[in-house]
Amino acid sequence: MSKVVFLDRDGVINEKAAPHDYIKNWKEFTFLPETIRAIHLLNNHGFVVVLVTNQRGIARGLMTMEDLNIIHQNMQTELSAHGAHIDRIYVCPHDKGTCHCRKPEIGLFLQAQNEYNIDKNHSYMVGDSVTDIQAGKKFGISTISINGFNYGADYDCSSLMEAAEWIIREEEK
Ligand SMILES: [Zn+2]
Repeated sequence: MSKVVFLDRDGVINEKAAPHDYIKNWKEFTFLPETIRAIHLLNNHGFVVVLVTNQRGIARGLMTMEDLNIIHQNMQTELSAHGAHIDRIYVCPHDKGTCHCRKPEIGLFLQAQNEYNIDKNHSYMVGDSVTDIQAGKKFGISTISINGFNYGADYDCSSLMEAAEWIIREEEK
């Protein structure tokens, strides 16, 4: 079975866009401190690392799926230059209320479940918004909030590195 760490993207891996805006191209994508190291650490501890990201800017016509793919290709290139990788990327490109995959719905998690035999007792969702935590709980895995608001998450910290270190400690218990 696979131990999976689900990561939100904006605000977890990279700096968030301004309110009501989106990361529309690679120039607008900036890794948060230590996120590459944190992903590397999770890779090395045997976790499958997957991205689950709402990208409503596509439904709103502010960017295309191709624009998003180019951002993700660049992100993976940068990660691999440091020996890290994200195993799979699941995107909800839809508008609010029009699908079953936009978090807090769990369609993206179910897509992952189609591809991996997920050990939910050893899997985690790391996010910076309440919808991430709600989705992780609904899917039945541990949840970690990294923006200083707990939202009822199992653990509350301030960076992906702190989240990764906590996950590894939990697994060593
Ligand atoms: Zn969707």
